Amino acid sequence: MGLFSGRKTIFVDSDVLVIGGGMAGCGATYESRYWGRDKKVVVVEKANIERSGAVAQGLYAINCYMGMQWDENQPEDHVRYARNDLMGLVREDLGYDIARHVDATVHLFEEWGLPIMKDPETGRYLREGKWQIMIHGESYKPIVAEAARKAATKIYNRIMVTHLLMDETKANRVAGAVGFNVRTGDFYVFRAKAVIVAAGGASHIYKPRAVGEGMGRTWYAPWSSASAYALPILAGAKMTQMENRIVLTRFKDGYGPVGAYFLHLKTYTENAYGNEYESTWYENTKAIVGDYIDHLPVPTCLRNHAFLEEVKAGRGPIRMVTKEAFQDPHKETVGWENFLGMTIGQAVVWASQNIDPKEINPELTTSEPYVMGSHATCSGAWASGPEDYAPDEYQWGYNRMMTIDGLFGAGDTIGGTAHKFSSGSFAEGRIAGKAAVKYIDDLGKEVPQVSEAEYQSLEKLVFQPMENYEVGRNEIVAGTVSPSYLLPIHGLQRLEKIMDEYVGGIGSNYMTNEPLLTRGLEHLQMLKEDLDHIGAEDFHQLQRAWELQHRVLASECVTQHTMFRKETRWPGYYYRGDHMKLDDTDWHCFTLSQYDRNSGNWEMEKAPVYHIVD
Ligand SMILES: Cc1cc2nc3c(=O)[nH]c(=O)nc-3n(C[C@H](O)[C@H](O)[C@H](O)COP(=O)(O)OP(=O)(O)OC[C@H]3O[C@@H](n4cnc5c(N)ncnc54)[C@H](O)[C@@H]3O)c2cc1C
Repeated sequence: MGLFSGRKTIFVDSDVLVIGGGMAGCGATYESRYWGRDKKVVVVEKANIERSGAVAQGLYAINCYMGMQWDENQPEDHVRYARNDLMGLVREDLGYDIARHVDATVHLFEEWGLPIMKDPETGRYLREGKWQIMIHGESYKPIVAEAARKAATKIYNRIMVTHLLMDETKANRVAGAVGFNVRTGDFYVFRAKAVIVAAGGASHIYKPRAVGEGMGRTWYAPWSSASAYALPILAGAKMTQMENRIVLTRFKDGYGPVGAYFLHLKTYTENAYGNEYESTWYENTKAIVGDYIDHLPVPTCLRNHAFLEEVKAGRGPIRMVTKEAFQDPHKETVGWENFLGMTIGQAVVWASQNIDPKEINPELTTSEPYVMGSHATCSGAWASGPEDYAPDEYQWGYNRMMTIDGLFGAGDTIGGTAHKFSSGSFAEGRIAGKAAVKYIDDLGKEVPQVSEAEYQSLEKLVFQPMENYEVGRNEIVAGTVSPSYLLPIHGLQRLEKIMDEYVGGIGSNYMTNEPLLTRGLEHLQMLKEDLDHIGAEDFHQLQRAWELQHRVLASECVTQHTMFRKETRWPGYYYRGDHMKLDDTDWHCFTLSQYDRNSGNWEMEKAPVYHIVD
């Protein structure tokens, strides 16, 4: 047991185990209880569900609401919208499934106390755009968390899940998970009949624009550490579209959102000389993607592409023209409130840089790439679709079950379904929760068994970084530097540098190619070897160590997918310099990967895209 033998090992038995208590996890918990009144529903969360996940700070808009009660949009419309934005490639069965259920989820939020703004004339929810409705959302997450708290049998906060456990009686079946308490260091063994992974997306796998003292400032939540991907990858689940990272155009230095500015305040962008620039790049973009540039609305990545080209042509910075809109006191208030409910840091950045948007048009920039499955991109696990809607090839059991029996996912975890956002993630959690309960009911007495040998060897592995530190600190040469171990922050910076330089980050203007990706994989392999020697001086650093492990594995998956897809499908998100065109003949398909943890090999394959909606 080693130097830390004083810690306790705590066993928790459950029917449904929900990993991550963010939007999707809260939805999964709520619905598991609804369908499984007699079930033991356990949530495990590395922070505290009251304020955890990407919605921690609150939101100003719910970005996915059909408005079917007023015949504003139908689910099919949303599928067409997401398909267009993703350049043709979405799982239409999964997207339709969320769209048809998402309104009911938003109505629950309102019932639970979330203030949704109303149009005084029509009485309908106030629209920010075609899909977005505006909320007073500072307390969005606590409201949603309260529903999950009431539904759960027990919530275990402050426990970081590091690995899934597999069934010892049946191959390819999940049996639970292990993790440790980030405050006490106690080791937890969760035994479960079904597991729902809802552990959020991935920031900090690419070098961020804000470094040094500003490194915590990223667009996606800095604590989104890729567990949603690493946990299933390590267990052997198939992943999809992991190359489809997202790059966002945002206000410079604060990553403040621009959606409300474009949609509600009707502000627009211009180059440094006050000129419109998107039309300048029409022919250039058409040469890469063909007719996709003529689609409306123009796909997000293509608007990024025009932005990047204009800056490369020497006519940056690109600015948001706010001076006109901010003369209207109502719009000025909305402009500031938009940040106060969601990204307070942007207001602080503007104040600190003498930017009053009434007087100065603020600069925009493009972010470093992020990997996620719920926003405007669709990386994640390959999941079975709804019985009544999915093509046979997309169905192998229960809705939202991955390619491992009993392992479900929702939100950022599930691939192929962009534009679900906060409400769609909660709705997808509900879908997964309902399916997981059915799966358990069908199991009968044939329940999964956890192997003692497996969790004991994982316990040793999980705490190894503390052992490494304990031994290596005897050789500390200065501060915390020792030749025998690598600290989590150093490993993180090395990862970010590799991804930035070889896999299409900001440093290379989002450009990569096969030789770069090949070298990037070699660097990642060397980093993985060094991670055996990571040192953690306390439980906080132990959490950082495991977050890094998860980020590295997800990054390797991103790199493998980027190598496999030999085309430039999403210019503005990334470019394959050796295949600079979109290629619908060979690549109008999903990319799938599967990791073998014993050999370290990745199997890549294509899967068909079915267009179910006209
Ligand atoms: C900057 C920003 C702006 C956004 N704006 C909007 C908007 O305006 N409107 C909108 O509708 N949506 C918006 N979204 C999208 C929305 O926040 C996400 O779609 C949604 O939160 C995804 O839900 P999730 O449950 O998958 O992830 P999250 O809500 O992030 O939850 C993941 C949870 O898993 C936990 N976790 C992670 N790893 C582990 C582990 N190893 N062990 C235990 N627990 C773990 C995390 O602590 C967290 O609680 C925005 C997101 C961001 C980042």
